[in-house]
Amino acid sequence: MPEPAPILIAGGGIGGLALALALAQTGRASIVLEQRDSFGAAGAGIQLGPNGVRVLQRLGLAEALRSAVGVPDALAVHDGRSGRALAVLPLGRWIAARHGAPYWVVHRGDLHAILAAAAAAQPRITLRTSFTLASLAQKGEDLQARSAAGEVATGGALVGADGLWSSVRRAVTPAHVPELVGATAARTVIPVAAAGRLALPAVGLWLSRGVNVVHYPVRGGSEIAAVVIATETWQGTGWETKADKEGLIAHLRGFHASLAEPLAMAPEWRKWALHRLAPLPRWSAGRVTLIGDAAHPMLPHLAQGGVLALEDAVVLADALAAHPGNEAQAFYVFETQRRRRAARVQTMSRLNGRIYHARPPLSWARDAVLRAVPGNWLMAGYDWLYGWRADTRKMGA
Ligand SMILES: Cc1cc2nc3c(=O)[nH]c(=O)nc-3n(C[C@H](O)[C@H](O)[C@H](O)COP(=O)(O)OP(=O)(O)OC[C@H]3O[C@@H](n4cnc5c(N)ncnc54)[C@H](O)[C@@H]3O)c2cc1C
Repeated sequence: MPEPAPILIAGGGIGGLALALALAQTGRASIVLEQRDSFGAAGAGIQLGPNGVRVLQRLGLAEALRSAVGVPDALAVHDGRSGRALAVLPLGRWIAARHGAPYWVVHRGDLHAILAAAAAAQPRITLRTSFTLASLAQKGEDLQARSAAGEVATGGALVGADGLWSSVRRAVTPAHVPELVGATAARTVIPVAAAGRLALPAVGLWLSRGVNVVHYPVRGGSEIAAVVIATETWQGTGWETKADKEGLIAHLRGFHASLAEPLAMAPEWRKWALHRLAPLPRWSAGRVTLIGDAAHPMLPHLAQGGVLALEDAVVLADALAAHPGNEAQAFYVFETQRRRRAARVQTMSRLNGRIYHARPPLSWARDAVLRAVPGNWLMAGYDWLYGWRADTRKMGA
């Protein structure tokens, strides 16, 4: 049998690199086309629920990641103004025992570095940087991807893993464009020595009207990553815009000093405007499909966008292996298996945002529920999310 043509992957973020690794495990070659001049991620942290960690374990990356990740004991939800805990949901050993994989927090730079190093070491993966996908053309049995600079890459099919502003999505379903939601996410990393009460081995979630803050340890506990998500009409499209400190301090004004003071000392914040996109009517067109944020961008209130990109990667690699020589069929099977779950996570992320930012009287009801219901019951409500396994998945599960 001749080797099948490589799969072209537009975008070398979490989803694109994980897909290349998952394909290599099934024996399929790929070419990753990344617009930036290196594979890396600036920025702060990322939470990886057990459903994502299980994928990283399958890709053989757990050992390489172990020294970079933190294993938080709990998710502590605080009333923003008083700082008092409203609920403590178990993570740590509890969630690892429940779902057979741990809950990790990690610096994005560390996660990307390990994905990129594993991909670079894999002979079935070709990594091409400074390749901004500009157009696609079918030439007989081949698909040709052309860069903005006129370079060409040829493969048997193409996967758009090119994120929120996906150019591949524009080819698959041109009418669907992300919309601003009227909120921003600003992120920073502070040394643990300056973090005061935030220096706990836990994920902290602080709630206030129109603003919520999330923080957790990264870099082996030596730094604390924090994100402030606030209702705001700023409309930038970049991911690396410097946030003005006065605006940030204004967002933190309603919060208890034990949160606001260490965060106000952070030397630098970067922010971006949050966007939403309703579930797409389709992810695939012939031998082209989408994964990750290109297929189902979501608000960050469930901390699952990157994790779903990891799930997509292994499901798509398995579908391609199960349908040799028929990428279009594999893509159809893949999206049929994934669309309901992705839409559910998108919806629940949006709903969580509304609950986090609620005003009285809804916020009083929220707080009463958080105080009354045991933390392990609250966490058990996410079994559908964290308990996902590639080998036992059901449609929409
Ligand atoms: C505030 C915030 C907090 C978050 N926290 C979490 C969390 O805790 N856990 C979690 O799982 N998720 C989280 N997410 C979501 C997560 O960051 C994304 O879902 C994830 O990065 C998506 O990965 P991706 O590979 O699909 O896309 P991306 O990471 O966006 O990667 C896309 C890649 O494609 C490249 N690219 C784009 N266009 C082109 C082109 N034309 N040609 C070539 N290359 C191109 C880009 O340079 C980039 O490298 C958060 C998001 C936000 C905003």
